[in-house]
Amino acid sequence: MLNKVLIANRGEIAVRVIRACQEMGIATVAVYSDLDRDALHVRLADEAYALGGQSAAESYLNTEAILDVIERSGADAVHPGYGFFSENTDFARAITERGVAFVGPPPEAIEVMGDKVSSRKAAEAAGVAGVPGTSEFLTSHTEVVDFGEEFGWPVAIKAAYGGGGRGMRVVRSAEEAEEAFNSAQSEALKGFGRDECYVEKYLTWPRHIEMQIIGDTHGDVVWVAERDCSAQRRHQKLVEESPAPAFPAEIRQAMGEAAVKVAKACGYYNAGTVEFLYQDGEFFFLEMNTRLQVEHPVTEMVSGLDLVAEQLRVAAGEKLSFGQDDIVLSGHAIEIRINAEDPAEGKFLPSPGHIETIVPPAGFGTRWDGGYESGDTVSQYYDNLVGKLICWGADRETAILRTLRALREFRIDGIATTIPADIAILEHPDFVAATHSTKWVEDVLDLTGVTGGATGSGEDGETKVQRDVDVEVNGKRFSVKMYIPESQAGAVVAAGAAGAGAAPARARRGGGSGAGAAGGGSGAVSVPMQGTIVKVLVEVGQEVEAGATVCVLEAMKMENNITADKAGTIKEIKVAAGDSVGSGDVVVVIE
Ligand code: ADP
Repeated sequence: MLNKVLIANRGEIAVRVIRACQEMGIATVAVYSDLDRDALHVRLADEAYALGGQSAAESYLNTEAILDVIERSGADAVHPGYGFFSENTDFARAITERGVAFVGPPPEAIEVMGDKVSSRKAAEAAGVAGVPGTSEFLTSHTEVVDFGEEFGWPVAIKAAYGGGGRGMRVVRSAEEAEEAFNSAQSEALKGFGRDECYVEKYLTWPRHIEMQIIGDTHGDVVWVAERDCSAQRRHQKLVEESPAPAFPAEIRQAMGEAAVKVAKACGYYNAGTVEFLYQDGEFFFLEMNTRLQVEHPVTEMVSGLDLVAEQLRVAAGEKLSFGQDDIVLSGHAIEIRINAEDPAEGKFLPSPGHIETIVPPAGFGTRWDGGYESGDTVSQYYDNLVGKLICWGADRETAILRTLRALREFRIDGIATTIPADIAILEHPDFVAATHSTKWVEDVLDLTGVTGGATGSGEDGETKVQRDVDVEVNGKRFSVKMYIPESQAGAVVAAGAAGAGAAPARARRGGGSGAGAAGGGSGAVSVPMQGTIVKVLVEVGQEVEAGATVCVLEAMKMENNITADKAGTIKEIKVAAGDSVGSGDVVVVIE
């Protein structure tokens, strides 16, 4: 078995992995950015090491810093969680070269599944069909027209190296093909540095159903259960459940076997997920995610298997502790992602900030996988998942009622969350009848009048300042760094500690022109958080209404509309697509 696992991640998934290790008697090593010095995963781990930096690139994606912590801590394995290094083959190779286990699949499998065309080809070679489409790159829009005429409209042009739904264009008729092809290519080039695109049939009302698989290094791969993740907005999942409702047993069996074939074809081991689109009784391979997924707990709840524990056993070279026939599924589980996001009017605007109080619900069949406790801060620098509420019931109806009960019991003050939208989804007759699809949240669900329920001040937590203090322990002198609330820093200095540099300015928050600006603004439109400008939608001299979108900011993995805070004429544009901006930066001036 493994002795000591370094968790190269943060938030709820780091906490999830630490808990599994503790139950297995494995020591844990946390890493943290400057902003996460007091984070829950740091508090729970046996040891914790600073990576420095604030942004993901400076901290959790800093290979050198993490390799250094492996060295210093003596960890014999690294669990990457999801995101960050989880699908990075350079990182996986860098650690395995040092004799440290990577808790994940072999790098070759990550590579095959890394782009849409090569994964599609691999699935096809294994006898598993993707959505009807081309497996070659497009050279001109006329190929799109030919494809549409043959297979029927609409079709989707997709960037081979795209992700997160970007670089995808839906084409409804031959006339739209040229423009869609050009814009898909240019978005792909800007977003991912490569412009190769291909075309496939666009399904108009599909469900997203994915299959959990797990394999060991001895050649065994099993499928565990499927998850229905059709409740999405902007291609990001909000609610996941298992089993998929109204999903015949023979299709489940066929999908499970297809997923195992795909996995075996690329020499896969450890946990992975094969994603499919499902429509009219048919399923089509979409992609394979070569890591543990956010929504893995619903599978655990219906199968009784601890997927993280199993991942750790596989990484230690052990055989799977169960075979295909040992898997017995029972009841129904639903996972709700609780994001620091304001779903008001269906806008889902990021809402980072200080959590004054968080009291997750409890009770029969109610599980909370969280990354934060009361007093913690959800930083604008990372994704905004606060945690996941997973409820189990003997059947789907019981699970829905239990999840609604738990959501209503949930207390969280200080930040807005997706909870009101989640309640609206679970209460909706379409969701109850399982007639929803991946387009349903955006096309049908009406969130008018829903508010994010932010209460409390919404202010960031008090900034902490560093003080260097000399202490003596058993006669040995140590120089320690103390991080203390700004308001108490003076007292520590007065008490004789060596003062450090000037306290950093208190983090500025809000200030931006969020959606729904009333129209009485100054005309200096600023962004509410740091991020990247993906689009500028106005020109100098243009007239705008209050509330009109002037540019799109990508922040916290989401695109956010930045809107005019008053009506007038655009006098100045201070940014262009691709620019990085900080919280409070003025992007457009309206006169
Ligand atoms: P990404 O890597 O950007 O997430 P995917 O290929 O997984 O790209 O697609 C993202 C989402 O877009 C899917 O979950 C589905 O909702 C939708 N989608 C993708 N391809 C199609 C298609 N051919 N027909 C209908 N919807 C699609």
